[in-house]
Amino acid sequence: MSERYYVNLPLALGPFTLDGPEAHHLATVCRLRPGDAVCLFNGDGREYPSRVVHVARREVHLEVLEVCQPLRELPFSLEVAAPIPKGDRGQFLIEKLTELGVTTFAPLICERSNAHPRETRRDKLERHVIEASKQCGRNVLMQIGELATWADYCNREKTDALCIFAHPEADAAFSTIPFGKSERRPVQLAVGPEGGFTDEEIALAQQHGWIAVSLGPRILRLETAAITLAIAVAQF
Ligand code: SAH
Repeated sequence: MSERYYVNLPLALGPFTLDGPEAHHLATVCRLRPGDAVCLFNGDGREYPSRVVHVARREVHLEVLEVCQPLRELPFSLEVAAPIPKGDRGQFLIEKLTELGVTTFAPLICERSNAHPRETRRDKLERHVIEASKQCGRNVLMQIGELATWADYCNREKTDALCIFAHPEADAAFSTIPFGKSERRPVQLAVGPEGGFTDEEIALAQQHGWIAVSLGPRILRLETAAITLAIAVAQF
């Protein structure tokens, strides 16, 4: 796959001028030269194989040669809600969920989680999504939902989604959830903070039809739990 560049602009066949950090990256870091192939994407579900025409000091002139629409999305909507772990672990979680094809990540504030303003900054989370999308070939960006408390998240308008939350003391193992490959119903998954969900949060979830599942006898880091659930649901 040629080097992928994200642009926050409409794209079409023909000439295109790249500027800003992506142009700098292309010219100075990747040292691409006229004639080299690159691939542009803007999150519209398509990708745009292109050729470098001219490299100037602050901008790079490209020619978009093709418009392709490879199928790289899951065939159903998958939302994952979780508190954002601090630092590198937060970045890791966002990257892996993007790679797994998750449609939306909903950042949560739970009773036992502290919201770290720096970690929850939307622009920072979106940057991680773009970097992961460049690497994994995804042409639709994982959406970042609004930061919400667990109570507000549970009280959101009802959808027809299958709602599953991970809880170490749940009776049901994940494998007992009845969903098959043919099922195309939207799925919502939720994971609690390192301190766990409180009894009230668990009761509230159950009142709203969320199903509690266990992921085995060991306590997983919240990002491990979220990624495990997403993999199990995606069933590639
Ligand atoms: N001490 C906490 C552990 C929290 S781990 C407790 O006992 O609940 C962080 C989150 O990861 C949990 O809220 C849960 O959603 C998920 N998780 C971790 N290990 C799990 C397991 N074995 N089964 C189900 N969920 C798990």
